[in-house]
Amino acid sequence: MSLEKAGGRFCSGKRAGLPAQRPFPVIQKVVASMAHLQEEKLRLQEELLALQEKLAARESEEIAASVQLRGQVENLKANLREQAQEIGRLRSEMGGTDAEKHRDLLAAENERLRQEMKAREGELRELRRQQAACRDCTHLQESAGLQERLCQLQREAEEARAKLAELELEVQQKTNRLAEVELRLKDSLAERAQEEERLSRRLRDSQETIASLRAQPQQIKYVIKTVEVESAKAKQALCESQSRNQYLQEQVGMQRQVLKEMEQQLQSSQKTAAQLRAQIAMYETELERAHGQMLEEMQAMEDEKNRAIEEAFSRAQVEMKAVHENLAGVRTNLLTLQPALRTLTHDYNSLKRQVRDFPLLLQETLRSARAEIGQAIEEVNSTNRELLRKYRRELQLRKKCHNELVRLKGNIRVFGRVRPITKEDGEGPEAVSAVTFDADDDAVLHLLHKGKQVSFELDKVFPPQASQEEVFQEVQALVTSCIDGYNVCIFAYGQTGAGKTYTMEGTSANPGINQRALQLLFSEVRSKAADWDYAISVSVAEIYNEALRDLLGKEPQEKLEIKLCPDGSGQLYVPGLTEFSVQSVEDINKVFEFGHVNRVTECTNLNEHSSRSHALLIVTVRGLDRSTGLRTTGKLNLVDLAGSERVGRSGAEGSRLREAQYINRSLSALGDVIYALRSRQGHVPFRNSKLTYLLQDSLSGDSKTLMMVQVSPAEKNSSETLCSLKFAERVRSVELGPVSRKAELVSWPSQEQLEGDLPGSSGRGHASPSPGLPSGRSTSIRRKLQTSA
Ligand code: ADP
Ligand code: MG
Repeated sequence: MSLEKAGGRFCSGKRAGLPAQRPFPVIQKVVASMAHLQEEKLRLQEELLALQEKLAARESEEIAASVQLRGQVENLKANLREQAQEIGRLRSEMGGTDAEKHRDLLAAENERLRQEMKAREGELRELRRQQAACRDCTHLQESAGLQERLCQLQREAEEARAKLAELELEVQQKTNRLAEVELRLKDSLAERAQEEERLSRRLRDSQETIASLRAQPQQIKYVIKTVEVESAKAKQALCESQSRNQYLQEQVGMQRQVLKEMEQQLQSSQKTAAQLRAQIAMYETELERAHGQMLEEMQAMEDEKNRAIEEAFSRAQVEMKAVHENLAGVRTNLLTLQPALRTLTHDYNSLKRQVRDFPLLLQETLRSARAEIGQAIEEVNSTNRELLRKYRRELQLRKKCHNELVRLKGNIRVFGRVRPITKEDGEGPEAVSAVTFDADDDAVLHLLHKGKQVSFELDKVFPPQASQEEVFQEVQALVTSCIDGYNVCIFAYGQTGAGKTYTMEGTSANPGINQRALQLLFSEVRSKAADWDYAISVSVAEIYNEALRDLLGKEPQEKLEIKLCPDGSGQLYVPGLTEFSVQSVEDINKVFEFGHVNRVTECTNLNEHSSRSHALLIVTVRGLDRSTGLRTTGKLNLVDLAGSERVGRSGAEGSRLREAQYINRSLSALGDVIYALRSRQGHVPFRNSKLTYLLQDSLSGDSKTLMMVQVSPAEKNSSETLCSLKFAERVRSVELGPVSRKAELVSWPSQEQLEGDLPGSSGRGHASPSPGLPSGRSTSIRRKLQTSA
């Protein structure tokens, strides 16, 4: 009832928003109680086991009782024996023969009883064995069968009670019969006693009669015979009564024994029944106790549940209250929010409209954006095209400006380099330098020759302390212009030992222009790699006695020919000249090494040979502008010329003289070509030597030439130094423009003429290059350009 009520309350709590988990503690408690009951059940099972043990103890008690029973049987046996003795005694009292018969009968009966007792004992053992077997059964079976056994025992008790009643009845009957039999026995005993008395009296009378008769022999004999006959009859009657008496006594004994047994059985059954009753009562109290306990627990659980429900209900009420309060707050909030909601709804509707219109708007916007983008792309494209056009025009303009600049600066420039004094120059006064420099002008140097100081002005003069790096810095602009597609020639001119090879090749620790130029080309090409593809290749050649040899070829001694391109472009080429593609400094080193080895194997004395031949390193740079498709080809010719000393004049003969003549002719031809180019003559005599013919492309047009005139500072070399410097000044002082061209129509002086020229008497004291040349103006122009370069 309370449960239902509580449940109802709980449900209302749940409707009010109470969490659904609230009833679980009650269920948990019920579960806990169940567990408790389970434990109780286990405890009862344990008690049951204890009871079983008690039962076992009782069984042992029963065994003890059976032992006692056996003792009683023994007692009975003793009684029987006593009775037998009594009977024997009686029999001995009553007479020999009958007594013996009776004894035999009793002995037989005794034997039968003993047999029966043995059988009973066997049965008892069997029972005990069964009991033992029963004990061996498992406890579980015992516990399961215990109740059954209890019922069985109760049944047995009932049966025993019924049997007991029956036995009591039977005993009563038998007692009655026994009383009758005893009565009859007493009567018969009394009769017998009387008969015996009577008979003994008669016997005595008869004996007296016999005695009296003996005295009367005849009559007596007859009387004796009569008495004897009568005595036999009496004896027979006595025997009959004795046997009947015996039978009756046996009957009485048997009945008594049966009675005793029954009494014993009755007693034991009563005892068992009492024990069983006590056990039943104990079980019943135990059951009642457990039942009571269970009821108590259930009551406790019920109370607990009710309490939990009460608590939950009160909590729910509190929460409900809070919720109500919140609800009130929310309601007030709602009231204040309603205007905001109205504006929001309005906003939402307008947004919805906007969203509805958005795709159209978007499409329109996209259309216009697309159109705008297309227009912008078109504009960008046109701008790009315009830019490209401008860029190309700018390129052309740049080239034009460059050409103009070069034209103004002169595309043939002359530098002088003075090597330091070396051990070979000797010691003491011999080693004194004949060359001095102008502290204010790095283009001027003074030479003391035969006691007179001669001054020379070149484009740039490098003193002995100038490093390879400094020299290269002045030529690197030429080198890079090769990347832009210009042809460049750099010549090292001077007498043997003046430092030509040092300037061009240098040493491995301090490389010269050749290696530095290629390194610079590589780095420049790399920096332009984003827009340009470049390929750099090199050829190494030598011109000795007007014969051109390929130093990278398989047959270095083979003379190569210079031919006109068959395509009619007027270009020259050398069929069979090896060209190695190079990509790194390592490649260049390998090429130089290879060329050097070829040159060494071709001559007996390298120093001698190298001073008598022109060594050429031809670098070709081919470029492709990926964006414009513009292709460029630039050639950088690095030439270490043969010694310019005047061997022929020192009385040389044979091959030495021939060598000297070839060198002389080729150097003169080079001078002629440069002169003709600078003075813009219509005809340039390129074909006068192999060297100029080979370099024709790189000397003509808008190509650039640098002549590095190497001089020795030693006084003993002053004549050769003078010749070299005169050659240099003549090359660079060729005036540009129509006047100079006209003026320069005179021929280029030979080596001998150079030597023969003596220092001029110009204001500054430098040699006048050629008569009638207005060199002052050109010099000032040079200076200006040089500072701007
Ligand atoms: P060339 O090639 O003109 O015959 P070399 O280049 O062989 O002359 O130079 C001759 C010697 O002078 C070499 O031992 C060289 O090392 C040295 N020499 C030349 N120029 C310089 C210089 N600027 N600084 C140091 N030594 C030099
Ligand atoms: Mg040399």
